Amino acid sequence: MQRYFVDEINGNSPVFNKDQVHHIVNVMRMKVNDQITISYNNEAFLCEIKNVNPLKVDIIENLHEEHELKNNVTLLYCLPKGEKLDLVVQKATELGVHEIVLVQSERCIAKITKENKDKKLVRLNKIALEASEQSKRTFVPIIEKVMNYKDLSKLDFDHKFIAYENEDDTTFKEQLEAIKENESIAVLVGAEGGFSVKEVEDAKSWGYKSVSLGRRILRSETAVFYALTAIGFVLENK
Ligand code: SAH
Repeated sequence: MQRYFVDEINGNSPVFNKDQVHHIVNVMRMKVNDQITISYNNEAFLCEIKNVNPLKVDIIENLHEEHELKNNVTLLYCLPKGEKLDLVVQKATELGVHEIVLVQSERCIAKITKENKDKKLVRLNKIALEASEQSKRTFVPIIEKVMNYKDLSKLDFDHKFIAYENEDDTTFKEQLEAIKENESIAVLVGAEGGFSVKEVEDAKSWGYKSVSLGRRILRSETAVFYALTAIGFVLENK
């Protein structure tokens, strides 16, 4: 069933923006008595179309859905080339991330500048919203920060990991198993060129645990999917 994220409820009716009204009325061609779901304030509600023109939708019931991970997971992702970022945002959203922070590391070829930042973030937020609707999430991941690598030292999480292909440590699973409910997690993944030795050393000194994601060298986007899948799998199967 189609899902829409709304910021406001008026009486018993969700308040839709112009694009959503267009989508419900003209794209989905919804009729009176058709049902949709909305996410509002981290909760999901079943709704029914009461009138089409003008659109009036009533909330029927709270669905008490639980599609979110119990831990806030933040992806710290070094900017990749080209369209990869779009794919990573979509899949990371499906895999349940709470926030995606874009990181400019030494070997990043792509750059976010003052000029293209806003446009890029608008696009990525739209992708995250659509992926959240599709995967029936009740929370849309936050994507608003672009950071320089050295500022990763200031981030505070209960558990911080850096995925490093030259790491022999294979305890990622055990470390995830030891994480308690509600503790926050961050995972840092490099771009195509990976991290410099200095960057890995710096991250370790800031409390990031270096972990291996298996014996093969993964592409940057695959490393994200591997790490987030592993995290979700362990946390949701305790
Ligand atoms: N340029 C490097 C590979 C970079 S892969 C080389 O050619 O050797 C891009 C990113 O994916 C890395 O920075 C790392 O964060 C992650 N990654 C890929 N394979 C990994 C693995 N086996 N273990 C941990 N992280 C991995």
